[in-house]
Amino acid sequence: MSLKARILIVEDEASQLAVLEYNLTSAGYEAVKATDGQEALQLIDEQMPDLILLDWMLPGISGIEICRQLKVRKDTQAVPIIMLSARSEEVDKVRGLETGADDYLQKPYGIKELLARVRLQLKRARPATTGAELWHGDLRMDTAGQRVWCADHEIVLGPREYALLLALMERPGKVFGRGALLDQVWGRECDVETRTVDVHIARLRKALIKYKGENIIRTIRGSGYSLF
Ligand code: CA
Repeated sequence: MSLKARILIVEDEASQLAVLEYNLTSAGYEAVKATDGQEALQLIDEQMPDLILLDWMLPGISGIEICRQLKVRKDTQAVPIIMLSARSEEVDKVRGLETGADDYLQKPYGIKELLARVRLQLKRARPATTGAELWHGDLRMDTAGQRVWCADHEIVLGPREYALLLALMERPGKVFGRGALLDQVWGRECDVETRTVDVHIARLRKALIKYKGENIIRTIRGSGYSLF
């Protein structure tokens, strides 16, 4: 699994979009782009981003409305949103944050500042992308060395099981659909069947139960899996 964070850029001005895409890709992120709200919402369903850069003024559904929608949806509310706007009034900034946006940048902004804000939001939302350790009870994951321990015992996992556990540990309590796990662990272009996810989850469970003595991966009928 790639640790590259996926950033969705929603911006209707082609030049702005190109500049953002170039700079984010150069900084090591995977950039996906949408030029209006409808396209953005569709992309989010297909490839859940780790962070969203959202232009305020968009044709059709406004940036604020998209932000509001995403922040009430269970599957998207934890995804950080940085609003981008040409408006300068303080009142707009307040309104932007009231809709649930995690940060706000006024155009024209410096790319260095934008990248710093992106890093900060990702670090908050997805610590593994910044090379940290992840903890869940007595379970510890070293994301740089890709190793996992339970108390003092190392749990040796296959690469798919490791990547599945990483996804679950990054967002404990979140329910991951099989499609989302497939997308995150196997990648978008593969034609692996969703039941493959079940097979690898079963292996991961078995390995965890061996050391923890209990099952910590919950199956949500009809939805997917969650770490509790
Ligand atoms: Ca715009």
